[in-house]
Amino acid sequence: MKNLLITSFLLIIFSFSAPLIIAKPIESLPDAAERNKPAPSASPALSSSPDGRIIKLSRGGAVLSISFSEYLTGVVAAEMPASFGIEALKAQAVASRTYALYNINHKKHAGFDLCADPACCSAYADHNSLREKWGPNFDAYYSKVKSAVESTDGIYLTWEGEPILAAFHSSSYGSTESSENVWSSALPYLRSVQSPETADKVTNLFTTVKVSLKDFRETLSKKYPSAEFGPDPAKWISSLMYSEGGRVSELVAGGVRLSGAELRQLFGLRSAAFTYRLEKDAVVFSVAGYGHGVGLSQYGANIMASKGSSYEQILKYYYSGVQISRLSDSAKP
Ligand SMILES: [Zn+2]
Repeated sequence: MKNLLITSFLLIIFSFSAPLIIAKPIESLPDAAERNKPAPSASPALSSSPDGRIIKLSRGGAVLSISFSEYLTGVVAAEMPASFGIEALKAQAVASRTYALYNINHKKHAGFDLCADPACCSAYADHNSLREKWGPNFDAYYSKVKSAVESTDGIYLTWEGEPILAAFHSSSYGSTESSENVWSSALPYLRSVQSPETADKVTNLFTTVKVSLKDFRETLSKKYPSAEFGPDPAKWISSLMYSEGGRVSELVAGGVRLSGAELRQLFGLRSAAFTYRLEKDAVVFSVAGYGHGVGLSQYGANIMASKGSSYEQILKYYYSGVQISRLSDSAKP
């Protein structure tokens, strides 16, 4: 994520599409020459809606040309349970649209706009995989997710006129996390805020992971060859520090200082919000929430939606100080 904050661009331009004009703020509007440029005929807008634009998606070794709207429907369907409240799905649609625009803006890829790798751009599910996943609910769920995308057509989040890095995660317990505690950059809109998840509303909000002392020692030694483990396992882990959001920011294990996020990854914990205890032959981690904890909490959004919050309220809550902007219709040739 370190390279995500590179230079900012004045325009959002789809690599193979006509320029999209940002409605707000005014200084982001392209100049007259750019506005008057004819749209390339190879990538026409399907309709006058901003999301009708064609994008190029790299997936499974092929590059698909699909509308931004269809892409976003497949992304929201892949990233959030379709059973969630409609306002939560709309919040996810706007977050996913914003994240896609952010990646396009930063020219993450050459030769295509976005990829379907969840570790890079976003997960994307096509009709076939959704039919398999949803079974008899396919028609109802697909039209629900599609309506979440279409009813927020072109809406995205900005900070100082640029699309934000709209990070999101599954669930937090207590608070979300400020960006600098997970990645290197402190982003003004990715601040720790309280999140409403409770165990009765989120399946597996609390989980435990048991690691045998042997596996604990071997896994750490493999990753950090300088790690040393004395005869007393009670001294293997020490100096846990917690962030304001309640996640382990750093600790010392086997004499090596590492971040909570690194330990999370090494032992497959669902989040870095953990405590631990020693049993006779094992270290037992008690973990809260799921994901890095930065930005929108999906389960938190669903709880807010169930209590009457709109998608705008949800987004403005989890992304501090952002503006809600809208892509304008395509430039006229
Ligand atoms: Zn990608």
